[in-house]
Amino acid sequence: MANQQILVVEDEQIQALELQKMLENLGYQVPIAVTSGEAAIAAAKDRQLDVVLIDLNLSGTINGVSAAKQIRDRFNIPVVYLTESSDEETLQRAKLTTPFGYLVKPLEANYLKTTIEMAIYRHQLEQELKQSQQWFATTLHSIGEAVIATDAGGIIRFINPVAESITGWRRSQALGKDVSEVFCIVNPSAHLPYPEAPGKHNLQLAEGNEISLENIDEPSPVDRGWTASCDRLLIAKDGRQIPIDDTVAPINDENNKIIGAVYVFRDISARQQTEALEKERIRLETEIKERSLAEAEIRRSLELEKELSELKSRLITTISHEFRTPMSVILSSSELLQVYGDGWQEEKKQTHFNRIETAIEYMTALVEDIMLVGEAQSGKLRFNPTPVELVGFCTQLIEEMNSTKSDRHHIQWICDRQAIEVILDPKLLRQILKNLLSNAIKYSPDGGEIKLELTCHPSNTPLVNTQNAPSLLAIFRIQDPGIGIPKVETQHLFESFQRATNVGTIRGTGLGLAIVQKCVQLHGGQVELESELGIGTTVTVKLPIDVYQGD
Ligand code: ATP
Ligand code: MG
Repeated sequence: MANQQILVVEDEQIQALELQKMLENLGYQVPIAVTSGEAAIAAAKDRQLDVVLIDLNLSGTINGVSAAKQIRDRFNIPVVYLTESSDEETLQRAKLTTPFGYLVKPLEANYLKTTIEMAIYRHQLEQELKQSQQWFATTLHSIGEAVIATDAGGIIRFINPVAESITGWRRSQALGKDVSEVFCIVNPSAHLPYPEAPGKHNLQLAEGNEISLENIDEPSPVDRGWTASCDRLLIAKDGRQIPIDDTVAPINDENNKIIGAVYVFRDISARQQTEALEKERIRLETEIKERSLAEAEIRRSLELEKELSELKSRLITTISHEFRTPMSVILSSSELLQVYGDGWQEEKKQTHFNRIETAIEYMTALVEDIMLVGEAQSGKLRFNPTPVELVGFCTQLIEEMNSTKSDRHHIQWICDRQAIEVILDPKLLRQILKNLLSNAIKYSPDGGEIKLELTCHPSNTPLVNTQNAPSLLAIFRIQDPGIGIPKVETQHLFESFQRATNVGTIRGTGLGLAIVQKCVQLHGGQVELESELGIGTTVTVKLPIDVYQGD
């Protein structure tokens, strides 16, 4: 209290000094006591005052009420009026300047003190309130969203600049208007006026503040917001339709009674445009993708058609060419047997029967190869994986081939494993190995050592149709010391009916490697051929396979 400074403004000097004394006795600092409105305003301007006590009946050019008003408005100092009498007219004038207290003379010390303390306290509260109002107003002004607040009757009490610019209503025009006039919504799909602006509807019910949030069924009263809706149209003052996103929430007093509503909304036309553009982009992208897929599909089927027709014509050539020799063998042997058979010895007859048999076997194998290539080409050759013991499978195949090959050849089996259970298609693997081994034998006319080597490496590319099984990369290497292949010709040999130029009289149709490649592809593997003319050939087949783990 010791620091509180009080300005005394009395009409008469004696009274001023008396009051100054009285206040000092009460513990206040009274740096100055003046007797005119002008002097009071000058003192208020120069000093840090806490309260001004001012006589209502000042006799100078500025009377007590207008001096008090200036002190209050210009310097924000609380004013307490002093008066001899409390006549009605003066009182009314004084009231207009919202004084912080009113004291009728003669002054009583205790009452004086209480009034001063109350004035200081009220002034402090007012300052705090002003500050927080300022704080909220600034916040609401500066947020990016449009905000309109109404009272309980739906009358606009606040509108921020964003709401002004979206609605096209200036603050001065909007304040005091019914909210439905400024915040005018139509449902974009039906184009009907928005049926019941929730805030307004409920506020109308709430007339006389009789309804509280508990009376509102949907949504739950606990939920602060009444509505949160998307994509509606706001009709601006100039008639423009603006797509908005909006939320309406009640404003409640401390007793949970509705005293107003706050509408928060934002212009989403830019967002809608971006969304529309994005949709269009995705649509175009999908269309382009679909078109290029269709194009690729057409191109592929044209290629396939071309390949098939090429295959057909080659087939006819091959059949007519390759079947001619065995058929003439069959024809000549059967004619000889028919004419001379009776007189021949059993051994000679058997030779011709064997020739016929070999020719038929050759033709059968040829037909099988042709069919296989046809199946592969038209996508009908299927991959059927089953459990297979790979070491046993290979050794059995070698035995089979050993029984038919010449003595000049020897097939060497190289593998560091005793047995290995895997999942693969045995029919396809048989085609792969049989064709490669028979090539190795056939194109090594001087005989020699043919090697079939198998190595298995751990891998992390499992086959698609088995789950969680450890997988391996099985590498088969078939090596021969044969005639080799001219370098430039190696790349086309995996196509059907392609043969190298150095085959001489060695017979063949050029289907074996095409079959090998199809079978390897169905296994998801790779095949490579390395060859040196006159030195020999090595074919490497890599197959990703899963280890079989039992049922
Ligand atoms: P088919 O296997 O249909 O009876 P082919 O052996 O001629 O006939 P492919 O197995 O497809 O047909 O082989 C194609 C060509 O590749 C052969 O004609 C040959 O010129 C060459 N070739 C394949 N393997 C070898 C090899 N190990 N050594 C030398 N040339 C080979
Ligand atoms: Mg072959």
